[in-house]
Amino acid sequence: MRHVIALDVGGTGMKAALVGADTALSGGTDPGPPKLLHEARRPTGRERGPEAVVESILAFAEDLLAYGEEHLGESAVAAGVAVPGIVDAENGIAAYAANLGWRDVPMRRLLSERLHGVPVALGHDVRTGGLAEGRVGAGRGADRFLFVPLGTGIAGAIGIDGRVEPGAHGFAGEIGHIVVRPGGVACPCGQRGCLERLASASAVTLAWAEASGDPDADAADCAKAVESGDPRALAVWRNAVEALADGLVTALTLLDPRMLIIGGGLAEAGETLFVPLRAAVEERVTFQKLPEIVPAALGDTAGCLGAGLLAWDLVAETARAAGSGGPSADPDHDTAPGTDAAPHTAPSLSPSPGSDSAPDSSEVTA
Ligand SMILES: [Zn+2]
Repeated sequence: MRHVIALDVGGTGMKAALVGADTALSGGTDPGPPKLLHEARRPTGRERGPEAVVESILAFAEDLLAYGEEHLGESAVAAGVAVPGIVDAENGIAAYAANLGWRDVPMRRLLSERLHGVPVALGHDVRTGGLAEGRVGAGRGADRFLFVPLGTGIAGAIGIDGRVEPGAHGFAGEIGHIVVRPGGVACPCGQRGCLERLASASAVTLAWAEASGDPDADAADCAKAVESGDPRALAVWRNAVEALADGLVTALTLLDPRMLIIGGGLAEAGETLFVPLRAAVEERVTFQKLPEIVPAALGDTAGCLGAGLLAWDLVAETARAAGSGGPSADPDHDTAPGTDAAPHTAPSLSPSPGSDSAPDSSEVTA
């Protein structure tokens, strides 16, 4: 059965799947749920250092290739890999990841070599997740959306007509570093008062640990305390929601999205977050059109599903570039080049700086 390898590399764990051909994943008009033919997880093992992490990724991909050959009767036709940090999707380079410690890893070439020439697409984790939310998750059918995961940090993926906008230098969507409280708390990016210092799951955890006097209390505990009417929790929550609304209104003023998809740990609070957030955004808009504000639908599988989409997009591009009607995974056929610009700098951003991902990575031949 035709399939691709999808691999999402996180700071602590890697999620992988073999993804079958599907209308949604192959860009058809009737997006259905992707067919996951096989799923697997492994620890990233970052404590072993960047070289060991890269080797773990390569070995995982190789094992997935072998699994497909054994159980699905053929080799994967492509692979999609999502990694954190700064990614030069066009050149297939994992440029920088603060949490994994690597710099300028030629990930696409290494993977394609290990996979005996199978074409590989490389993408940034948040944008790849956003691609999946937009195409097969909460944003299904939305031509313009903004995906904002509220996790350790806050990143964003700007969805436009089925693709995710990387920007000229691969830095588009960094909504977490919009200054919403000038002169406020310092951010590792060098600014003060950045949105992610106020409204990420980590920020709420810090604020609630301090307000509650319990050093082990986290954002989920804060949400529970909000639900039980604790005034200290309500104050912490209101600060976060107001900062988030300020940042989102800036974004929607610029982008005019049809849908705002909010994900990450903080969104797990459900309506405890979404009811006041919708109200706070509505309060702030004047002439702007209010987008639908919805929770993400794919949870922590978004990155893996998105990696599958990258791979299937690569198969389709390869077929187009080869000028044939049918899909081809022939590694001798080059794909069209991606449109991402390569970031050349590696600023030391906070734990989850979004940067570069693209649904249009090109392949590398072994
Ligand atoms: Zn910042």
